[in-house]
Amino acid sequence: MPIMHDACGCRAAARDFALSGAEAHYPPDLELEPTHLEIDLRLDLVEQTAQGTVTTTVDARRAGPRAVRLHAVDFELLAVRDGGGRSLTYRYDGRVLVATWAEPFAAGESRQLQIDYRVQRPVTGLFFSKPGPGAENAPWFAATDHETERARHWLPCVDLPNVRPRLDFKLRADARFTILANGALLAETGHDDGSKTAHYRLEQRCPSYLTCFAIGEFVRFEDGEHQGKPIAYFATKEFEPSHLKRSFGRTPEMLTWLTKKLGCELPYPKYYQFALPGFGGAMENISLVSWDDVFVLDERLAEEWSWLVDQINIHEMAHTYFGDWVVCRDFAHAWLKESWATYIESCWLEDNVSRDEADYDFFANASAYITEADERYKRPIVTRTFDHSWSLYDRHLYPGGACRLHMLRRLLGDEVFLACRKGLSADVWR
Ligand SMILES: [Zn+2]
Repeated sequence: MPIMHDACGCRAAARDFALSGAEAHYPPDLELEPTHLEIDLRLDLVEQTAQGTVTTTVDARRAGPRAVRLHAVDFELLAVRDGGGRSLTYRYDGRVLVATWAEPFAAGESRQLQIDYRVQRPVTGLFFSKPGPGAENAPWFAATDHETERARHWLPCVDLPNVRPRLDFKLRADARFTILANGALLAETGHDDGSKTAHYRLEQRCPSYLTCFAIGEFVRFEDGEHQGKPIAYFATKEFEPSHLKRSFGRTPEMLTWLTKKLGCELPYPKYYQFALPGFGGAMENISLVSWDDVFVLDERLAEEWSWLVDQINIHEMAHTYFGDWVVCRDFAHAWLKESWATYIESCWLEDNVSRDEADYDFFANASAYITEADERYKRPIVTRTFDHSWSLYDRHLYPGGACRLHMLRRLLGDEVFLACRKGLSADVWR
């Protein structure tokens, strides 16, 4: 996600980064690790509900454990079963679900957990929109936005980035809607009741904060392909396809530059972007980047904001590698994604605009970081002690980390610095 560098001139009082009672955060042990999710849900955009079954495949890393613990906020639980359809013992307090098998797992054993549930218009994570009184022109959609820990409001999961299951989506909705999700579309099947089911599969591993779907009445612009992988953009019917081309049309060129710069091909089966109202920024969901539709440009706005949309576009695309492909084990190491994505913005300017623009971008990054450090707080770039993981997404993380990466590049020289990119091609990340 990008951060905006506002020009606020007020001087806030210096304070500590975290409250005095803040605790250290660590990723959970994975003695039972969710390795695959089948997300089989029906989205009713009139009633604004999601209902169905999520089947989690759980692999045991050692012998002995019997219980798996999932985040699941405000679910109406209908059933908790094992892979054979037998009821499992479970506890649920409205936030965490603990399902327990009678027999312990053997080391290396794999079992399935099926959760039937329903959520209606969650407070966050899954957002619905429909026309109604006073909002007759409101668009139809249901779409997700998670960073950092909001998938749990509609998806039963370990909602932290060291858990990265592969995904199958079977999403059913009214047939007039476009259905998008991470990965490749394998099939769309119509039903007699006027609905359809889209089956998307993501064969690469995906943490919960990058899991995404979007369903709605969308316009679409197909923008060719990159190495055989389709590129397309989507927005609500308020816009024309030409708006999408004007806004995101440099995407193919950026993909060509970035894959060459990093020496690593696009690891995912498509590069789609969608824009909806109220999304507040942009988010690098695997193969399905989301945007606030304030960034969908008409001719007048393009004169002022094309540079900004390009900057955000390359930032989210950089996350394809720094964040999506190489995932931080926990949010304490979010520099691995945000510092890098911010620094890649400067590299894009250096190679494609001018050295002056890149130098100015570095100056802006340094100024933004130093202002926060002088006027708000100073913190280590990597710290486990925070109030909430979202608190880490500050100017220390984005421009502060980018400045450190630039310093490393200058100390090491381009040849050594860029040689590190070879690590991106390693199979270890799959
Ligand atoms: Zn970002």
